Amino acid sequence: MPQISFTTVATYLAQFISAIVIAGLLFGFQRQYRNSYLRHWVSGWAALAVYHLASFTGFVLAVAYHQPALHPARLAAALVAAVAGYTQIGWFVFGAYELIRRRPVRMADARRVLIILALFGVATAIVFLDSSTLSATRYLARFGVRAFLGGIAFLVTAVALWRSRTRREGIGVRVLGAGYFFYALQQLQYAGFTMVWLLEGAYPQYFDTLGYGDFLLQSVLAIGIVACLLEDEREAAALASVEIEHIAYHDALTGLPNRPLFMDRLIISVAQSHRSGQKLAVLFLDLDRFKDINDSLGHSIGDQLLKALADRIRRCMREGDTLARFGGDEFTLLIPRIEDVEDVAKVAAEILETLDRPFVVSDRELFMSASIGISVYPADGLDAETLVRNADTAMYRAKDSGRDNYQLYAPAMNALALERLALENLLRKAISQQELVLHYQPLVDANSRSVVGFEALVRWQHPELGLLSPGQFISVAEMSGLIIPIGEWVLHTALRQLRAWRHMFGTDLRMSVNLSARQFQQPDLADQIRAAVEEHDVPPTSVELEITETHAMQNAERTIGTLRELKEIGVRIAIDDFGTGYSSLSYLKRFPIDTLKLDQAFIRGVLSDPSDAAIVSAVISMAHSLDLEVVAEGVETAEQLSFLQSRQCDRIQGYYFSAPLTAAEMEPYLLSSAAASM
Ligand code: C2E
Ligand code: MG
Ligand code: MG
Repeated sequence: MPQISFTTVATYLAQFISAIVIAGLLFGFQRQYRNSYLRHWVSGWAALAVYHLASFTGFVLAVAYHQPALHPARLAAALVAAVAGYTQIGWFVFGAYELIRRRPVRMADARRVLIILALFGVATAIVFLDSSTLSATRYLARFGVRAFLGGIAFLVTAVALWRSRTRREGIGVRVLGAGYFFYALQQLQYAGFTMVWLLEGAYPQYFDTLGYGDFLLQSVLAIGIVACLLEDEREAAALASVEIEHIAYHDALTGLPNRPLFMDRLIISVAQSHRSGQKLAVLFLDLDRFKDINDSLGHSIGDQLLKALADRIRRCMREGDTLARFGGDEFTLLIPRIEDVEDVAKVAAEILETLDRPFVVSDRELFMSASIGISVYPADGLDAETLVRNADTAMYRAKDSGRDNYQLYAPAMNALALERLALENLLRKAISQQELVLHYQPLVDANSRSVVGFEALVRWQHPELGLLSPGQFISVAEMSGLIIPIGEWVLHTALRQLRAWRHMFGTDLRMSVNLSARQFQQPDLADQIRAAVEEHDVPPTSVELEITETHAMQNAERTIGTLRELKEIGVRIAIDDFGTGYSSLSYLKRFPIDTLKLDQAFIRGVLSDPSDAAIVSAVISMAHSLDLEVVAEGVETAEQLSFLQSRQCDRIQGYYFSAPLTAAEMEPYLLSSAAASM
């Protein structure tokens, strides 16, 4: 047995203290960062400290106090050293494993391995307990086997760490790998010593100083662990900030850049264009009637539709373009570096074209169109804000010109927008100032030529601009929502007039009233109509409501529902401007309607264009087979009239009989035509 030298005591203590300090340090980190692999290393270093202390105690008891091996204190020290020494190997390997794999080991597995290691350690501690046994043999069993096992385990770990260095950034894992490697060599050296001692009966002199090497290697391991930890934390923080940035600058639904990011990119692009002298374009895209889909089919379908839509638009983009969701159903597209405005128009046309195909969402076919406004740097604005605002203005003009189209911004359009605003403000006051008037156009029976009814057509007596036709203000009224009070006023005024004329002329006169899309969507429309019919005390069958074909077909299923409610009141329903939309016959059959009003575009061509003549004839006979009445609109000549008579058209409306007239102008006409038909 070696004498207790200062070196021996010092190295034991140094190892013990460094292990306990490192365990404490890592414990502190673990509480702060909650890193799973740190837990194993804290346990490992604590076990190592215990191992050193217990070994030292056993050593002092044996060498300084000459206690026998079976002395309870020595026995206890031996068992504690064995359990701590072996479990330390396990914990060190687990720590590295989790670091490499980036996921925790399973607790049950870890526990099983640790128990096996501890039992194995206890077994090595109690063999050769008998003090008569050669101490070298016992030393081999206790320390040599542990050193050998630890050496192999750490060597394997070092190789694994070294191989994982390509997947991790930084130097932590390299330092740690090197630490494990040299620590493994040191352990194997210990194992070698015990063998030498067993075989030769002595060991090399420098054995005593090896503890200093242990101390050094422990420090390297600790530095490696801390470096790995800090690098992991930095990486996690970087990932988190990338994620936060993505969330802040992208739309959650479509994953597209959002408004702030779009504006940011636009500002940069404008600066680049300014330097390079190139043009850039901003497209402002707004879906047509997306609200209808959201309202009728629900937001989840609406969301899916938006996603599918974003995907389709994305396919029309070039590299370097930015598509953003600006809000709700608004998208913006930035096209940097354009040669020619025509190229941008082509992109817009392409987008509109890809939207033509129906979208299939939840087994449903949905049709979507969009209105696009385009502004170009530098002609339409020199900064990002102006470009977007002007693209938006252009988009509104696209809406005004019938939707599903694109419009380029031109400076004149600003004036147009201002004009519209001014118009809207004046229109707001028009009702209360009694500037609205109704004109009535007679509907005449095609055979008897007697007046059977009227269509009420609204006009606006503008204080400065004179008499405005509905084409000049209805779309403003629609957009601003003013159409609702206007429509109500029209309905009541027309029915009041109808009652008066039925009274005066004693016939079964009817009144047709136009309903706008917005009016038609009001949930309480049927109640309003019923109330008006009752208030003015006219038979419901004498009232005909006109909705345009395009509008009726937009959401055919919903139209059917609303029409049924209206039919319950007993009023008649007419499909207006028939032939300009795309009705499917199957729907026409299911719509509870009474009348088709053939659009004047067909009547105009009936004598000159054989296909118009064919269409008119076909529509009339089809309508009759569905038991519908047909009204021809815009009949201006006797020839048109006789053609329609020959095709059994039921009613005629047009300048040939009368233009729309005020009520006062209408009365003499009614008197004379009543006289004529008598
Ligand atoms: P509409 O319902 O198709 O009305 C028929 C339009 O054709 C009227 O134009 C009428 O003046 C015009 N017209 C009648 N006979 C002839 C003809 O022989 N030749 C030609 N070239 N035109 C003829 P108006 O009054 O300018 O109305 C235009 C549209 O405005 C109407 O088309 C209707 O859709 C809408 N509108 C009119 N009044 C109202 C209303 O009170 N409410 C709503 N929502 N829309 C209305
Ligand atoms: Mg009409
Ligand atoms: Mg019409």
